Amino acid sequence: MIIVMKADVDPDSPEVREVVKVAERYPEVRAVVRKIQGATRALTEVYLLGPTTSVPVEPFEEMEAVEKVIRIRETYRAIGRHEGQAEVVGFEYNGIRFTQDTFHVFAGLCAVDTRENVELMFRALRDVGLTTTRAGAYKPRTSPYDFQGHGKNCLPYVFELAGKYGIKIIAMEVTHESHVDEIRTALAAAGNPTGVMLQIGTRNAQNFELLKAVGQQQDFPILFKRGMGITLDESLNACEYLATGGNHRIVFCLRGMKTHLGDPHRNFVDFAHVPVVKRLTRLPVCIDPSHSVGKKTMAPDGILDIAHVTAQGIIAGANMVLVDFHPRPEQALCDGPQALLLSDLEPFLRDVELVRKTYLERQRIYASAEASPRATGTA
Ligand code: PEP
Ligand code: MN
Repeated sequence: MIIVMKADVDPDSPEVREVVKVAERYPEVRAVVRKIQGATRALTEVYLLGPTTSVPVEPFEEMEAVEKVIRIRETYRAIGRHEGQAEVVGFEYNGIRFTQDTFHVFAGLCAVDTRENVELMFRALRDVGLTTTRAGAYKPRTSPYDFQGHGKNCLPYVFELAGKYGIKIIAMEVTHESHVDEIRTALAAAGNPTGVMLQIGTRNAQNFELLKAVGQQQDFPILFKRGMGITLDESLNACEYLATGGNHRIVFCLRGMKTHLGDPHRNFVDFAHVPVVKRLTRLPVCIDPSHSVGKKTMAPDGILDIAHVTAQGIIAGANMVLVDFHPRPEQALCDGPQALLLSDLEPFLRDVELVRKTYLERQRIYASAEASPRATGTA
């Protein structure tokens, strides 16, 4: 059960304390207070955990400071969009806001290889006005003989260069909880010139101990990549592990499913699930066209498959695009064949902007249709 307080009722107020007191009178019920920054106002929500089915809604509904009481579904308790939760929520990190209404492109290196390539990449981003990127230091590779990433050794120069080129957030995968400490330490040593969004890779989507550890830290937001061979429901439950650890600053990333039914693409593109994840949860949704398609093949219309599926995800309402670029893909130590060139950056962003605008226009079309008798009529 969620008890939503009226606008601007403070989490520390006597009214919220009263809700918690009444809730905790019921056996084994525990109340967790959560402050949510909505699009237009701050909200306080009190989550009742434990055996809440026998807890009545009336005592809370009668309280002056309570806006509404929502009985939540059994599934996705922490990340789910429960009946009556229409409010846009999300989070802000390092000056950048993430919700189901915002849009950002994280373009960059799949893996950090040399300082020079990091600098070329970041400079190109600055030149097109992007402040969000990706850079893998810890790479989970299928073969133990492949490049495993430079790990903590590259962090000092990656963070220093991020500061130099105005990068605000780097999406960076962690494959072990110790990597979170290494990132925190390296950021502090560099004077915190940038921010990091911790990426949980598809191969770790059900590494529950890693999920719990990353969910329990509050320093960094999390980019969770859908498991490549599990159901959407299983991936959303994995996200619950992050959120129940206490960290609600999660972006859910679609990156394609592993099946030969998607051939000749590396994975079967699953961006039709963008609106589904937005409906089932309140998480912003990211698409990763690079790991979905896995190659730079081009359709006869002169548009790369990667650009085509990017557009398909954005037209469906994606809030973030995570995409591989490399100044010299032929030298990349990981995923070179799917990396776009720096010369692709400007046209790619123009395409993205056009499609995003079209998505917003689509929303307006259906918003006005909603007011018409056709939409409000019976089936
Ligand atoms: C990545 O983004 O570098 C990556 C390894 O992606 P995924 O976990 O989706 O394969
Ligand atoms: Mn990769």
